Amino acid sequence: MHMSSTRFSFSSFERHSNMTSGSNSLMWFRKGLRIHDNPALDHAAKNSTHVYPVFVIDPHYMKPDPTAFSPGSKLCGLNRIRFLLESLVDLDFSLKKIGSRLLVLHGEPADVLIQCLKEWDIKRLCFEYDTDPYYQALDARVQTYALASSIEIFTPVSHTLFNPAEIIQKNGGKPPMNCLSFSKIAGEPHWLSSPLATTLTVIPPVGDVGNCNVSEVPTVKQLGYRDIQEEEPPIFKGGETEALRMLRESTKDKEWVAKFEKPNTDPSAFLKPATTMLSPYLKFGCLSARYFYQCIKEIEKEVKNHTSPPVSLLGQLFWRDFFYTVGFGTPNFDRMRGNKICRQIPWNNDDELLAAWRDARTGFPWIDAIMIQLRKWGWIHHLARHCVACFLTRGDLFIHWEKGRDVFERLLVDSDWAINNGNWLWLSCSSFFYQYHRIYSPITFGKKYDPTGAYIRHFLPVLKDMPAEYIYEPWTAPLSIQTKVNCIIGKDYPKPIISHEIANKECKNAMAAAYELNKKLNGLVSDEDLQNLRTRVEDESQVTSSKRLKQKLN
Ligand SMILES: Cc1cc2nc3c(=O)[nH]c(=O)nc-3n(C[C@H](O)[C@H](O)[C@H](O)COP(=O)(O)OP(=O)(O)OC[C@H]3O[C@@H](n4cnc5c(N)ncnc54)[C@H](O)[C@@H]3O)c2cc1C
Repeated sequence: MHMSSTRFSFSSFERHSNMTSGSNSLMWFRKGLRIHDNPALDHAAKNSTHVYPVFVIDPHYMKPDPTAFSPGSKLCGLNRIRFLLESLVDLDFSLKKIGSRLLVLHGEPADVLIQCLKEWDIKRLCFEYDTDPYYQALDARVQTYALASSIEIFTPVSHTLFNPAEIIQKNGGKPPMNCLSFSKIAGEPHWLSSPLATTLTVIPPVGDVGNCNVSEVPTVKQLGYRDIQEEEPPIFKGGETEALRMLRESTKDKEWVAKFEKPNTDPSAFLKPATTMLSPYLKFGCLSARYFYQCIKEIEKEVKNHTSPPVSLLGQLFWRDFFYTVGFGTPNFDRMRGNKICRQIPWNNDDELLAAWRDARTGFPWIDAIMIQLRKWGWIHHLARHCVACFLTRGDLFIHWEKGRDVFERLLVDSDWAINNGNWLWLSCSSFFYQYHRIYSPITFGKKYDPTGAYIRHFLPVLKDMPAEYIYEPWTAPLSIQTKVNCIIGKDYPKPIISHEIANKECKNAMAAAYELNKKLNGLVSDEDLQNLRTRVEDESQVTSSKRLKQKLN
């Protein structure tokens, strides 16, 4: 694990800084796509003759992949790529207002950065500290070069409320494993008493860019995404300007903020979603989590009797920091094997079932409508995420959480390494949460919120005329009704791919067997142990055996 030696405080850093005034600084943007509360940018702007604000278009994330299951690159769906480009346009615009501009370069980021450091005779390199493994490896390469070239490095922690490394240190070298103990260890952030996040009004100009291949922010077309059918306008507009507007919008009803209780928010609300929808802005750092935190705190001071973490709005930001900290302190956090906090479970690898879930063809309208919303909007409510993640893994299909994680990672605009992996570990009962007998019913859960099925009708128009009594289970509608509403089940909309009643019982049995094995072997489950258990579970499963039978008959 690579721990950060940086801190928020500028003063402690400046004492060690030997940079003479009048030299060149490079501000490397990755996340943190904002001007407000951006300590790395503030620092780059101090005592420099020139500041080079750089963003590198990384083919790892941005190169089109025509073989992927939806438009986008290997890792990112187009919704997220578009959001990022819009955020860069907005950043460029804001930088121009304060006397600068964004320099966009293309290529493997470490190679590009090192070339820029040389070409522009950079004496100070500033970038926000990033805990994601991809950036840890990338940053190590760039830092090695910078240190060897006597370039000063400033890399503050400003993406999260707290420094994950400090929390781990305070907890005796291990990340806290629940949000309550996390918040106790964390306490109040030490920057809370300082004035609200500042915004720069001027920064030193960009110097000569020499031979570096600098461009404007590209469009999706220029990145090679052609012939993309625009079904509907994107739901999110990327950028800091929009983030701050949405923050104002979300916090203008102070009572709503103060009374926010996450478990009571409605996953089926789509005309006016029930939560802030700020996650894409926090993911890319268009909105500072610290600034958001301070705004909520101000409101809580004004409105008495506010809710508290973990259910309050402030509590949501604690969840975010919690997953960042556990993700940072846990080797192999993003996989089952080699991950000490993850139960070893004999998930199956049924690609047919996985594709049906991914492509909204399970035959369960509540699940399919959520998966359509995910694909179209790149965002779904937290409890909707719960439902589809539970259905894919321990609830019904018993498919590996890593596969579901990959689909989310690609399609979510807010896709975030630590939070996504953490929540998939949670929902699959692989870690953090162990009550595997508590399953979200794909039939009754949504009904509680939306008895008439307005959400389903909106995202699955094929079912728009289905009477309310059948909307969650259309296969039970008499054929006369199916004919009348122009939706024959099995033709216009799929039959359920499994029997929920049978599948969830089998999942519970398999989970019980896996938990027992993990307990018996103290977590040291070998590949062979897991394979033996998988064979046993599959032999006992009616779902798998009826599928096998079907395959034989075919
Ligand atoms: C299987 C699964 C995968 C998820 N993947 C992601 C992901 O890739 N990126 C992501 O940002 N969130 C993820 N979440 C967490 C959560 O669902 C979203 O953060 C939330 O729904 C975003 O909507 P919002 O901004 O309106 O949230 P609000 O309720 O308004 O909360 C404000 C902010 O708090 C943070 N937050 C809220 N809930 C959580 C949570 N449970 N864990 C961590 N942070 C939280 C987010 O940054 C969010 O924007 C996932 C949840 C599940 C169950």
